[in-house]
Amino acid sequence: MFESLSERLEGAFKQLKGEGRISEINVATTVKEIRRALVDADVNYKIAKEFTDRVKDKALGEKVITAISPGQLMVKIVKDELAELMGNTEVEVDLKANPTIILVAGLQGSGKTTFSGKLANFLKTKKARKPLLVAGDIYRPAAIDQLKVLGEQIGVEVYSEPENKNAVEIAQNALKHAKQNGNNVIIVDTAGRLAVDETMMTEVANIKAAINPQEILFVVDSMTGQDAVNTAKTFNDRLDFSGVVLTKLDGDTRGGAALTIKYTVNKPIKFVSMGEKLDTLDVFYPERMAQRILG
Ligand code: GDP
Repeated sequence: MFESLSERLEGAFKQLKGEGRISEINVATTVKEIRRALVDADVNYKIAKEFTDRVKDKALGEKVITAISPGQLMVKIVKDELAELMGNTEVEVDLKANPTIILVAGLQGSGKTTFSGKLANFLKTKKARKPLLVAGDIYRPAAIDQLKVLGEQIGVEVYSEPENKNAVEIAQNALKHAKQNGNNVIIVDTAGRLAVDETMMTEVANIKAAINPQEILFVVDSMTGQDAVNTAKTFNDRLDFSGVVLTKLDGDTRGGAALTIKYTVNKPIKFVSMGEKLDTLDVFYPERMAQRILG
């Protein structure tokens, strides 16, 4: 994950190796390298520039600490700033309501259905909840089957109405069903399109209005870089979601989406998905991610 970014940052820090102290000149060169590395990792230039300006100010503002070298100092500053950029501390899903209603939205292929299964599994095994999965994608019959297969694998009930073409009604009926059956969480998987489109947005907004979810999780494929960030912005303007799920972090993703989504929409990344297996869902820890990037 983010190998190229990690390598490039390491290269930038090497420039400070052997330096006895931080100076304007060596900081300027290092910071320039860091900025280039971020831009090449698909971080928007403005965000990369603000980031490195902060790093520079911090580095030059540091008093001479004899115990640590300029290289180590720079690594620490960059690590702290990366964590800050990604939100600093983890934010958990809010599970207080009974039932807790979680709406899952995103583009087709982003990994919504897979994530819904993973989340149900996570809530069942790690949080001792009794989830109900709801098949809300009324356009692709295969989506219902896909969710049913996932549900069977993890032993979680899947609610579907294959004949009903009204996603709002399905969600409302599922909620009634959950209340009757003692499900304390319902996860509504919604339909996605290949690009942002008005029908999809209206439908998700209508489901939101009808069932009033405590959590709206926006699922996005981290491999799509800045496109992911732009899509997040569009969904957030319309849905005001509560958190982001970054999928496919196991792939050859450069890092731009992970690093800048929080900054752009001011919503926390709550989960990351790193594979197709159902137990590969992780709570997102910005600090750990920053540590991982710096190796
Ligand atoms: P949806 O259309 O948004 O519901 O997306 P799906 O859940 O059907 O996922 C689309 C494709 O991406 C499928 O082939 C999934 O197996 C795959 N996928 C989903 N999440 C991940 C992930 O975290 N890592 C990888 N490598 N593949 C994933």
